[in-house]
Amino acid sequence: MHDTWSDHEMWVYECLACMTSWDEQFEVRHYDDGHGGEAAVYERGGQRCTTPWTDHVCPNCQSQNIKVFSKPLGRQAEVPKARADGDVAMVFHLRRLHAW
Ligand SMILES: [Zn+2]
Repeated sequence: MHDTWSDHEMWVYECLACMTSWDEQFEVRHYDDGHGGEAAVYERGGQRCTTPWTDHVCPNCQSQNIKVFSKPLGRQAEVPKARADGDVAMVFHLRRLHAW
């Protein structure tokens, strides 16, 4: 039997071309992959979707030059600033992995 748990995440996007910013909320389903690791699936509005840091274009100017931040919901007060900076660095690392 594998453990499954869900989380809500808010992601904030900022267009570097026209400075529009917006946010989107995702439901994240985490799975124990049975090998001591963890897999996660992102859903939005009950539909499985791509990871929050890929495939986003600016709704205003269609630029793909988007800066992405993650914002764990309801935990802002407990997360030290250094932790938040680490999350942003991780996002940029992941974006490089996805060959932006
Ligand atoms: Zn834009």
